[in-house]
Amino acid sequence: MTEVPSDHTLPPRAFHLLAKPTGAICNLDCDYCFFLSKESLYPGSRFRMADELLDSYIRQLIGAQQCQEVSVAWQGGEPMLMGLDFFRRSIQYQNKYRRPGMTISNTIQTNGTLIDDEWAAFFAENDFLVGISIDGPRGMHDAYRRDKAGEPTFDRVVRGLDLLRDHGVEFNALVTLHRANADHPLEVYRFLRDDLGIRHIQLIPIVERVAESETGEAAAGEHGERGADTYGSDRPPRTQRGDAVTERSITAEQYGRFLIAIFEEWVRRDVAEVYVDLFDVALANWMGEPSGSCVFSPTCGLALAMEHNGDVYSCDHFVEPEYLLGNIADTPMSELVASTRQRRFGHDKLDTLPDYCRRCSVRFACHGGCPKDRFVLTPDGEPGLNYLCAGYMAFFEHVDRPMRIMTELARRRRAPAEIMQLYAAEDAERDAARIAPSTRC
Ligand code: SF4
Ligand code: SF4
Repeated sequence: MTEVPSDHTLPPRAFHLLAKPTGAICNLDCDYCFFLSKESLYPGSRFRMADELLDSYIRQLIGAQQCQEVSVAWQGGEPMLMGLDFFRRSIQYQNKYRRPGMTISNTIQTNGTLIDDEWAAFFAENDFLVGISIDGPRGMHDAYRRDKAGEPTFDRVVRGLDLLRDHGVEFNALVTLHRANADHPLEVYRFLRDDLGIRHIQLIPIVERVAESETGEAAAGEHGERGADTYGSDRPPRTQRGDAVTERSITAEQYGRFLIAIFEEWVRRDVAEVYVDLFDVALANWMGEPSGSCVFSPTCGLALAMEHNGDVYSCDHFVEPEYLLGNIADTPMSELVASTRQRRFGHDKLDTLPDYCRRCSVRFACHGGCPKDRFVLTPDGEPGLNYLCAGYMAFFEHVDRPMRIMTELARRRRAPAEIMQLYAAEDAERDAARIAPSTRC
């Protein structure tokens, strides 16, 4: 077991905290959403971050960071349900507590359906980076991303994206991969790149962990079963338990095939033009640099989540009573982040790595993935292997050569994008070899 520093050591220089000002409350009812059920943790709550708490949150967040770059990250549920005035006040508090020379950036993850001209103008004026959830072309997106009435959301999301573009707002796409889109990698990728003009793509594989008896879609709440006229959710609480997945979940093999297919397109024409988070993370790991991703780092614990009432949890994926660290109204945020419990949480990622991963040739890139997905047995029967292992292994093995090439280019102070020329030459050579026999006849 790795040694965890005691409570009284220095807090981390920087950390990331996702604030959820509306808690789990959302205007949509996406079938695979793991967070809607967290509403049941706060019975009777109004699910709105109070102004006093907002002030305290911004003050503590800025005060706890020991670097000059601070990121204020909003998420939900649907954070835009708080209304514009809430975010205007958050900017006022940021200006109030900002230290000289400090750069504060704001990110917001939204389903995009509530964006109008006023919001888009606000995001532009305050340099928000807006993450929009979109799962691909209409049919793939609307398969699971529906509103409380079960109505599709595609048109509203695309309208929101258009408004962001019109106002010059920086945005990226968060794409969840599931049964409806996992077998269509190029269709998804080309739609985002060519039809929507998206240049930053984050891929999230849907792995809905459940007990064996709950693998059907109804277990996670299929459309039409929930009330259509409230923001509430009657889903059973989601926890990190069970050793099966819902039918909607992507398989490890599908995930690997999806990544490889879009990588093959990207490496031929989009390097340095389109940013796919996992490709950047992989390159950083091949270069021996910090990957910037908790999932693909040896340890984690520096990406926490805060509920609407100030409760801080170890991670967005572990908003469960046993991972509640405390409330920032009672204990300073810096103490919660630096607590032995949180450090233990982060080091457990490494300490619980099965031997199979420790011996793995691509461990340096994968690090066993996120602990939330480590619930299957290794081939030799050890628990704690990542459900997505086969996909990770296929992808990381597949990209070994191009990653080495890009690493070498970077070491020589050349642009990794030069790899596209190499691929073009190799493809031309291969095509010529294919044509050659017939021209001899
Ligand atoms: S549990 Fe997973 S998502 Fe959470 S901080 Fe660790 S690696 Fe990241
Ligand atoms: S690819 Fe599989 S075996 Fe290798 S580190 Fe990742 S999860 Fe472990």
